Amino acid sequence: MNQKTLKVLACFLGVLMVFSTISLASAAKIENIYGTGGDITKNKKVYNNIPKTTITNNVIANAKKGTPMVTFGSGNGPKVMIVAGVHGNELPASIAAMKLINYLNKRSIKGTVYVIPFVAPYSTSRSTRFWKGKNLNSVANIAGTPTNKIVRLSKKLKIKSLADFHSTLPGGVPGRNSILATKYPSYQSYRIASYISKKTGHALIYEYRAGVSYPGALEDACNLARVPAVTCEVKSRHGNVDSGSVIRSYNQMLTFLKYEKVI
Ligand SMILES: [Zn+2]
Repeated sequence: MNQKTLKVLACFLGVLMVFSTISLASAAKIENIYGTGGDITKNKKVYNNIPKTTITNNVIANAKKGTPMVTFGSGNGPKVMIVAGVHGNELPASIAAMKLINYLNKRSIKGTVYVIPFVAPYSTSRSTRFWKGKNLNSVANIAGTPTNKIVRLSKKLKIKSLADFHSTLPGGVPGRNSILATKYPSYQSYRIASYISKKTGHALIYEYRAGVSYPGALEDACNLARVPAVTCEVKSRHGNVDSGSVIRSYNQMLTFLKYEKVI
């Protein structure tokens, strides 16, 4: 092999290495993970606040059939999951997740990001808190529920960490912009929450053991399954998109991805 051939080969290998570590996010994959479908366009407070793009249309089309999950990247690096819409009347996080999907769609990222913008599109389409009479953030520990499906999927996909985005009623619990975590059995939950809290200025709220105060919360069920997880809350009235709430939720999402060095 002469020197020129070697140079060409080295260059080719270099390009290959770059592409294997930085995945182009444009090839997003959209799939349905549970039969909770609904028409998001019927909720004007959501639909009027999300970017009108091809990927948005594709997500909305999928949401008619079930819980859409959008996957970006497939290269080396961490696999993380972002969830919104566990409660169908908490609109800012779902809008922020759609903004994030549109942001990631034009970016190169390091690793894989799974985004579930509407856990129960049927509930979001009507701004209702429960799905089929169930509070989905209290049944993630029960087999067969949509949130339990997310827990099992996060294990199967070997997710490094998961963040679940909500909004909280002023005067409710916790009633403030905040990041929730537990220290045991997944201490990483506390580390992630501490970072997001520090960067956003939102309150850090933590307990020692997962599954005690909120046994069926998605965050707790993930932490108990050893998938480190946090819950991020922004203050906004239920069924409403209060001023500044979407951007706060969106910043929480970006900060989470920065913590995991995906972006
Ligand atoms: Zn909630």
